[in-house]
Amino acid sequence: MYLQIAIATGLRQEFTYLAPDPSKSSHQPKIGLRVRVSFGRSERVGLIVGIKQTTDLDLSKLKPIIELLDDTPLLSPELWQLGIWAADYYQHPLGDALMHLLPAKLRQPIPNQLIQFNWKISTVEAEFGRAKKQQALWQQINTLAPEFNLSQLQNMGIKPSQLKPFLDKLWLTTSYPKSQEVTLKLAQKALDLNLEQVQIVEHLARVKGTFSCNLLNGVTGSGKTEVYLHAIAHQLQAGKRTLLLVPEIGLTPQLLQRLQARFDNRVLALHSGLTEHQRLNAWQQAGLGQADIIVGTRSALFTPIPQLGLIIIDEEHDQAYKQQEGFRYHGRDLAIKRAADANIPILLGSATPSLESLANVTRGRFTQWLLTQRAGSANSQSYQVIDLRNQPQQAGISEQLQGMIQIQLDLDHQVLLMLNRRGFAPSLQCQTCGATAQCPACDANMTLHRRPPRLHCHHCEHQQPVHLHCPQCQSHQLKPLGQGTERTEEQLNTLFPNTPVHRIDRDTTRKKGSLDNMLEQVHSGAPCLLVGTQMLAKGHHFPNVTLAAILDADASLFSSDFRGPEKLAQLLVQTAGRAGRDQIPGTAVIQTYQADHPTIEILVTQGYNAFATQELTRRQQSGLPPVGHMALFHAQAKNATQAFALLNWLSQQIQNPALTPLTKALLMFGPMPAFMARKANYYRAQLQLQHPNRKQLQQLLLQLCNLLDQHPAARKIRWSLDIDPQELG
Ligand code: ADP
Ligand code: ZN
Ligand code: ZN
Repeated sequence: MYLQIAIATGLRQEFTYLAPDPSKSSHQPKIGLRVRVSFGRSERVGLIVGIKQTTDLDLSKLKPIIELLDDTPLLSPELWQLGIWAADYYQHPLGDALMHLLPAKLRQPIPNQLIQFNWKISTVEAEFGRAKKQQALWQQINTLAPEFNLSQLQNMGIKPSQLKPFLDKLWLTTSYPKSQEVTLKLAQKALDLNLEQVQIVEHLARVKGTFSCNLLNGVTGSGKTEVYLHAIAHQLQAGKRTLLLVPEIGLTPQLLQRLQARFDNRVLALHSGLTEHQRLNAWQQAGLGQADIIVGTRSALFTPIPQLGLIIIDEEHDQAYKQQEGFRYHGRDLAIKRAADANIPILLGSATPSLESLANVTRGRFTQWLLTQRAGSANSQSYQVIDLRNQPQQAGISEQLQGMIQIQLDLDHQVLLMLNRRGFAPSLQCQTCGATAQCPACDANMTLHRRPPRLHCHHCEHQQPVHLHCPQCQSHQLKPLGQGTERTEEQLNTLFPNTPVHRIDRDTTRKKGSLDNMLEQVHSGAPCLLVGTQMLAKGHHFPNVTLAAILDADASLFSSDFRGPEKLAQLLVQTAGRAGRDQIPGTAVIQTYQADHPTIEILVTQGYNAFATQELTRRQQSGLPPVGHMALFHAQAKNATQAFALLNWLSQQIQNPALTPLTKALLMFGPMPAFMARKANYYRAQLQLQHPNRKQLQQLLLQLCNLLDQHPAARKIRWSLDIDPQELG
């Protein structure tokens, strides 16, 4: 037998090995099992993706695999299919894609036997001879007799691998416990739903067991989360589990609290703070059905879940669902595929749906459910645009806004200010010659930070002491240019000395628990000022915030990315949505030098959906996604010429007449420098492809990847392909 093994090598290729000698191996090779193989001069873990009875390869060159690591496949047939589909769709090497679906621990050569849950001692007649250490270990685990589990073992400080000799001698056996059943237990009474909420919840209860895509388009604070809770309750009642994906768990501890308060059932949270070991445990628990509600970020999409009945994607528009490096998949899109394969409904929720999802509503692929009112007794919020032209301002806060803040603070309310730039100032500028502090490794300014003082490049993380004089002209006249959140915080402390200011950005929340601490203070309801980056715009429910201000709307108005207006609109509406979520009406303020900019105008007067309709028409006119389809080849090299040479060669291949059937309708832009042409000392070039037909584009990309795989230069230059890119460069 010849085994085809997928290994994470970055190569679009599988490798053939010989099956193990059946007399030496206790189980049979099967598709989906992990194997340990020698690969070049090292050993690797791979997955069996094919078994053949014949081969054309030179038999003398084939090696047998070293060992079968599993006796049953770790990935369920459903996830296995999803992995294969995703590798194909994203043109990602199969080995890398399938391995990505496994927790990192399982990408190591640990036999499955050793990571199972239940252990049983099956003999009393252990013989040790002179192996004193083994005897001691045996006595230790016998205190747990006759059965024990992995965590008991870990509590004794024993590693499962230490028990391998006992397993080999069959003194110990392992097994998986049976998957557990789902039961509904409600800890807290559910709220009565309003009419709009009832419609979607009842629909989901009706269509269970068939695939359907549902977009819950509900204004901020309209009770989307409440809809999720009800839908989950229906699933539990029917003995089914729910997968709830969120952009970032750390940012919304409230959601977990709400789930735990409502359901006594087992909620399992999978987030980036878990150690590899905890992640493995969680993955196994989920696979065993020991949790009924699985909440997690993007990669939680690959969690095995028996009796999965519903997938929910919260804030479906969020960029965090797209993996931006390596395996560049879109979590939302793969979740839809998973739901389709499992034949279950999926619910996508947002107050600012992505244009992709709205276009799918128009095409009839998704059903849209609107929540048009704020839920319960909450009031709506209104917009006010502050034209910064001719407005006196201090550190980015206009006098008019200062007055509005003061009024809210006098009423004992809270105020939120969003500025999507951390640090003290985006740059340090020389007043004599005008030069700004540049990162030595990137084509970018370095951000000035005060706490602690440093110049910090946010693109490559390079840090250095703050210049004492200008590197160009030696002048000592250096001044911060523009503002970041640190500077706004400082200014707020000066303007409102009697009110606490909480700054929430990546710098202040890096320490574990610090975000929870600040959020707790905000939830206490006492008057305060909150300043922060887009972290503040994400799903928080602050009942006492009555004023939310976007300090600088202009930063992204003129972005060269075609998604710029969409991203800006989402950020503005989400930030605005933090105000007036309870009894007291809220105001959202937008500070801008472009008060009559069409994006701002339509958002303020007609709202997000009107903006989105207009923006979709614009995309249609230029064949841009989601109407047309896009793919982006990146190349980077220490030398700009090399990066460009590879993409130039590729663009010539595209013009080959043999490809005409696939390229007739193709638009090609580039090769051109990426927006940041040099990052971390690499020169970056890109080639953008746009095509009205998805199938033809996919076929073309497959051929181009094959050509690149055979091209010698492609081996020396880092290149990658981003399908459905969310960021252009
Ligand atoms: P969203 O997820 O759309 O931002 P939430 O579900 O967080 O909205 O709801 C906002 C607030 O309204 C919460 O305090 C929630 O408890 C409350 N709420 C939601 N639905 C209802 C309802 N049907 N009746 C009363 N209050 C509700
Ligand atoms: Zn200078
Ligand atoms: Zn840099």
